[in-house]
Amino acid sequence: MTRVVLLGGGVGGSMVSNQLARQLKSEILRGEVEITVINESDVHVYQPYFLYMAFDQAVPADAQRPERSVLNHLIKLVVGHAERVDRDANAVVMGDGTKIPYDYLVIATGSRPAPETIPGLVEGGHIFYTQEGALKLRDALAEFKGGRIVVTVGVPHKCPVAPVEFTLMVRDWLNNRGMQSSEVFYTYPIGRLHSLEPVANWASGVFQERNINSQVFFNTESVDPEKKTITSLEGDTVSYDLLVAIPPHMGQDVIKRSGLGDAGNWIPTDRYSLQMEGADNIYVLGDATNLPISKAGSTAHFEADVVSSNLVNRIRGGRGSVRYDGKVFCFIEAGNDEATYIKFDYQHPPKPQAPTEMIHLYKLAFNKMYWLSAAGIL
Ligand SMILES: Cc1cc2nc3c(=O)[nH]c(=O)nc-3n(C[C@H](O)[C@H](O)[C@H](O)COP(=O)(O)OP(=O)(O)OC[C@H]3O[C@@H](n4cnc5c(N)ncnc54)[C@H](O)[C@@H]3O)c2cc1C
Repeated sequence: MTRVVLLGGGVGGSMVSNQLARQLKSEILRGEVEITVINESDVHVYQPYFLYMAFDQAVPADAQRPERSVLNHLIKLVVGHAERVDRDANAVVMGDGTKIPYDYLVIATGSRPAPETIPGLVEGGHIFYTQEGALKLRDALAEFKGGRIVVTVGVPHKCPVAPVEFTLMVRDWLNNRGMQSSEVFYTYPIGRLHSLEPVANWASGVFQERNINSQVFFNTESVDPEKKTITSLEGDTVSYDLLVAIPPHMGQDVIKRSGLGDAGNWIPTDRYSLQMEGADNIYVLGDATNLPISKAGSTAHFEADVVSSNLVNRIRGGRGSVRYDGKVFCFIEAGNDEATYIKFDYQHPPKPQAPTEMIHLYKLAFNKMYWLSAAGIL
């Protein structure tokens, strides 16, 4: 019996497990293979809806389905918090001490915003990267009477373009409510508006057109909720009426407790095979890797194809030689009911095009279609 355990049943974990269940159906039915997903919640959450929740364009029910309902019936689901991975025993140790043994382990535990790394941010800022934060921001925007909205970005973070999307959408939102004179101010830690240079160049033109102000080389070091200011490592201070932060992210604590990650809890991963460095039977995908590529659902999706192909091939006696080419695809909401997209890989940089209404409609449709892709149908 070959036991495959997926640690994390979010985007990457559900896609890999569903593809394995479909392709290895005969082996599973003969009792030769077992696939187990471990997820700490029995609810599967589609995080891109948080952006829309902040503008009251989506509600929590849009973003949630029972985890069981997105998994093939041949997959075993364990709902619980994994405490650590015990590599010596080839087992995942759960919070209650139960051990779940594996022959192959796939780690897809994602990432989390770490607002606690910036003093004053939890008290003084809004973070729409969690459902709770998105709903709080929705209420704050509904009560906003005008002034300066500051969007401050820290790296690394998941969804490479969500901060730019939020900035363009909030500008549109203010204009539609007669608050054209309110200011939108965006800060970014390096010397341009985005880590991907073509996106930075594109955003620079659109920000100028829409009268959005910005400051680069701004690494937010602290927030003063009383004075309503943010101060950067570089020594600059910016005042705000409403602060929206995309704080630097970290990998999950289970990675730290297992001794598998670097200082940020990111797992050293081979960029082509997606195997954990130095571990032949452990694969990593999605946000959890240390790869210098965008942490996005689409990244996890393309990586899932590689990991599942290689696992099926190895379980059937092959060497598992499919390589990940670094492919990422992201829609970019641009406000005014328009959107564009970027597609890139290790060899080809993104080339953002002019936004259109059609792409915006396609992004809205994709949000609904996600449930088919999580279930491995699309
Ligand atoms: C506001 C916002 C907008 C976004 N928009 C887009 C977009 O438009 N396009 C796009 O491609 N991406 C987008 N993303 C990013 C995307 O959601 C993530 O990159 C993606 O979910 C990563 O997939 P993953 O499988 O690595 O992790 P996740 O989907 O986060 O899944 C991780 C899973 O691991 C589980 N887990 C973690 N620790 C443990 C533990 N100790 N024990 C048990 N289970 C555990 C969690 O419960 C979770 O279910 C957006 C994200 C946000 C926040």
